Amino acid sequence: MREQVTLTGMVLTSSPMKEYDRRIELLTRERGRISAFAPGARRAANPLSAGTIPFHFGEYTLYQGRNSYTVKAVAVKKSFGDIAEDYSMTCYAAYFVELAQYFTRENIEASGELLLLYVTLLNMQKAVLKLPLIRIIYEMRMMQLQGQGIELFECLRCHRANTAAVYFSAGGLVCEECARSIPELRSYYPLVLSPDALYTLQYILSAPLEKLYSFTVTETILSELEHFMHSYLGRFLPHTFKTLDFIREETGGTNE
Ligand SMILES: [Zn+2]
Repeated sequence: MREQVTLTGMVLTSSPMKEYDRRIELLTRERGRISAFAPGARRAANPLSAGTIPFHFGEYTLYQGRNSYTVKAVAVKKSFGDIAEDYSMTCYAAYFVELAQYFTRENIEASGELLLLYVTLLNMQKAVLKLPLIRIIYEMRMMQLQGQGIELFECLRCHRANTAAVYFSAGGLVCEECARSIPELRSYYPLVLSPDALYTLQYILSAPLEKLYSFTVTETILSELEHFMHSYLGRFLPHTFKTLDFIREETGGTNE
C-alpha cells in the first residue's frame, strides 16, 4: 500500500503532462524540494487545478510511490497568482525560485527557505519596496541560511564593532583604523562600504522575518548595495542563474 503524507509547501514550477495532467515541483517544509504528478489538474473543474500552478502555498496531500509523489488533494492557504500578471515581478520571482531550487534538495527539510520565499513574495505583492532592494534582502538572507553569511558586525582583525568606513573582502570587514595601520590590507579589502550601507546590511542579517521588508533606502545606497552584492555573490556563489538574464533585460541591462 502506498504511503500517504501531508506536506506544507509552495509550488515552484508546473509543467503540462499528457493531455490533462501536470508535473509540479514543490518546496516543502518537511521534505525539501520534491516533484509530484497531479493527475487531471489541467481540467478546469478538477479539484487539483488551482493549487498546482506556481506560487500557490498550502497543504499538499500526496501518495508516495517508489520514485515519485502523486498529488491527492490540495488545501490552498495563500495564492500569489497575481505576481504572474506583472512582468517585472514575474522576472524577479523566477529568479527567487531558481535560487531556492539551487539551495534545496529532496529529503532535506527546507523550512527556512520556504518561509523566506513566502515572506518575500508577500512583500513583493504589497509593492512597497523596489524590486532590486527586495532582491538584495532575499539574497542576503538566503546566503545566511546556507551558512554562507559574512561577518558584518565587527572588524575581522581587531574585533571592534565599528560603523565608520569599512573595507569588505572574503569573510567580512576590516575597520578604517586597521586599514590605515596596515596599508597592504587595502589591496585585500578593496571595497569600501559607507556607514549607511553597512547598517542596512546588518539590519538585513538580524531583523526578524516579519520586519525584514520594512525599510527603504536612497538610490545612492541601493546602488552601493548592488555593487556590494555583485562582489559578495561573485565570490561566494559562483553559479550562473539563467533567470538573471530576464532581470537584466527587464532593467535595460543596468542592474549587473
Ligand atoms: Zn579593526
